[in-house]
Amino acid sequence: MNLKESIQHELDTHKEVAFEGYCHDCSTRVQVLCTVNAENKIIIEGGAAYKPREQIYLKCDACFTKDNTLRNYQECSVYSRVVGYLRPAENWNKGKLEEWKMRKEYKTDKKWEKT
Ligand SMILES: [Zn+2]
Repeated sequence: MNLKESIQHELDTHKEVAFEGYCHDCSTRVQVLCTVNAENKIIIEGGAAYKPREQIYLKCDACFTKDNTLRNYQECSVYSRVVGYLRPAENWNKGKLEEWKMRKEYKTDKKWEKT
């Protein structure tokens, strides 16, 4: 059941459905209120709610007006080279994670070309 269907299901038995939390973009406190009007249409006030997977994300009205797409909500794995292999850093042992913190990033203007 997606978010719209679960809200519809909740509104069949309750007068309103409210989501409380913090805006995903600006972290301000937000309450999104869903009600049904006289024409049987769902009215959403206070912002927006998203459920791309299991977790529900909220956006305040200002952030929703600025950008109505939910961004940067997916976890990402960081891969780096450890003992000669590219491996996700989350799988490294404690010692290698400590060593990783000490690594320094260098930028070079040198162009690498196939020989
Ligand atoms: Zn916001």
